[in-house]
Amino acid sequence: MVEIKTDTELDAMREAGRIVGRALQAVREHAATGVSLLELDELAATVIAEAGAKPAFLGYLPGFAPTPFPGVICASVNDAIVHGIPTRHRLREGDLLSVDCGAHLDGWTGDAAISFGIGATSPEDLALIEATEQALAAGIAAAQPGNRIGDISHAIAQTAAQGGYGMPADFGGHGIGRAMHEDPHVANHGRPGRGLVLRPGLALAIEPMFIAGGDGRYRIAADGWTMCTRDGSRAAHAEHTIAVTDSGPRLLTLP
Ligand code: MG
Ligand code: MG
Repeated sequence: MVEIKTDTELDAMREAGRIVGRALQAVREHAATGVSLLELDELAATVIAEAGAKPAFLGYLPGFAPTPFPGVICASVNDAIVHGIPTRHRLREGDLLSVDCGAHLDGWTGDAAISFGIGATSPEDLALIEATEQALAAGIAAAQPGNRIGDISHAIAQTAAQGGYGMPADFGGHGIGRAMHEDPHVANHGRPGRGLVLRPGLALAIEPMFIAGGDGRYRIAADGWTMCTRDGSRAAHAEHTIAVTDSGPRLLTLP
């Protein structure tokens, strides 16, 4: 069932989303060569707790996963696309890190992700990150009242095709509100003019994930969670929670 939120409810979602934005900002500022993924996880946990919110990922157990997620953030390094577990692994110069984070506040949820390089970043990684961010911006720009879900999907897919990037076929964005994952599914591939009509009050997490090798195939690592590229090439992920409003898309997960 697709839920339509009131303006007051969207204001409450904005507060949850702001905390997610702040946690990601803190992680980005702290991430450097030699810093462990676990330290970044602890930092995000602290930001979320100090804001009086609860982490949305910790203990999360979707159908595809063998065990509850053990972290507050997903930390996906290099060929990891999404769902990386924050371990004692220490970041190295030239790594590409994707961080995904969710939080609940007063019964509402925010979900967002960023990707960035550690230290000196290769031109290929910078182009991959930029294209993923452009796809997110294009997807958000398509989230206009009267458009359809397929317009968002198509905008993302077109950006991937232009850059020659691949995307995993069965993962994408989602409705969001009281729960992190609500209807509808927001596929990263799709035809314009198809699917659910976007109405004011619809809240969506839009999240392109791009694979440098141009192939969308992935494998799940031995930990049962981390989704890695099949070809070993690098991947980037970008996500915002947004709301469709009469005056256009409203970003809910900026810091
Ligand atoms: Mg996310
Ligand atoms: Mg999400």
